[in-house]
Amino acid sequence: MKTLTLRRPDDWHLHLRDGAVLEGVIGDSSRHFARAIIMPNLVPPVVTTADARAYRDRILAALPAGDRFEPLMTLYLTEHTDPRDVEEGRKSGLITAVKLYPAGATTNSHGGVRDLDKAMPVLERMAKIGLPLCVHGEVTTPEVDIFDREAVFIETVLDLLRRRLPELKITMEHVTTADGIDYIKSSKSNLAGSITTHHLIINRNAILVGGIRPHYYCLPVAKRENHRLALRAAATSGDSRFFLGTDSAPHVDPLKECACGCAGIYTSVNTMSCLAHVFEQENALDKLEAFTSLSGPAWYGLKPNEEMITLEKRDQPVDFPSKRDTEAGAITVFDPGFPLYWEAL
Ligand SMILES: [Zn+2]
Repeated sequence: MKTLTLRRPDDWHLHLRDGAVLEGVIGDSSRHFARAIIMPNLVPPVVTTADARAYRDRILAALPAGDRFEPLMTLYLTEHTDPRDVEEGRKSGLITAVKLYPAGATTNSHGGVRDLDKAMPVLERMAKIGLPLCVHGEVTTPEVDIFDREAVFIETVLDLLRRRLPELKITMEHVTTADGIDYIKSSKSNLAGSITTHHLIINRNAILVGGIRPHYYCLPVAKRENHRLALRAAATSGDSRFFLGTDSAPHVDPLKECACGCAGIYTSVNTMSCLAHVFEQENALDKLEAFTSLSGPAWYGLKPNEEMITLEKRDQPVDFPSKRDTEAGAITVFDPGFPLYWEAL
């Protein structure tokens, strides 16, 4: 049997939601991951340090007994965010990053930023204190085609922001295009990118060929095959500017399987198995630890986890549940479209 031992991984972009969904899904992350950057797009969003502290308490209270898991909290940037509150949150050790959602970009982002000028005082303070900005890198202007939104964001928003405030550390989250990969590679400093599990596996055909498949719909939406290949090359390269952020985003099935289904793919259950499969296909199992366990902490100024996990390759496919049942309803688990033989113990 083939085995692989790695430092325990972290997830640098995770949606845990709240209430019954939080309680139903947290164990799928805490089973394998030591830490995760927790997205603040609740209803209402996590805007202040006090909101983040209360949300962190709810997450810790929902943890299965005996699991050790550290939620790394983020604040949802608005045009009214108070720089003093952000700085206090950072100093107290509670806040790991601030999240920029262009208004309307994804689930619960209508309170996001419309005019970046209004957020400049906060961004300047973050640059000063070394607090990273996580960005959902898509423009939301209706004229721009949904498949071009990341590339247009880089050109019209991100690049200008980086020129204006080069000292600000920016994580371009869930990169989905070759344009995003090239842009990060061309940067000299203060820019890194997270890559999801599912964007390494599906391209846009998964959503649209043979019928509309809502469980493959996410934002940023999966792109053409050449983009998927660029993501795979970057993730498996060992380049420390690229690391895992699953963007695992649970929605109960009725919210996905309807006329206007929500964006989000639930991958926490089988992410490590999917990644081992992808890295093995790319002959890069020796780079998996950098992607899941080393490059992310280095970027966020944290130590890698001391604890190790072992992955084993089985002769028979691992039997993952197709749904995660929660008190709020069932959530469909990501189906990579091929059997998975690697199991994280
Ligand atoms: Zn997300």
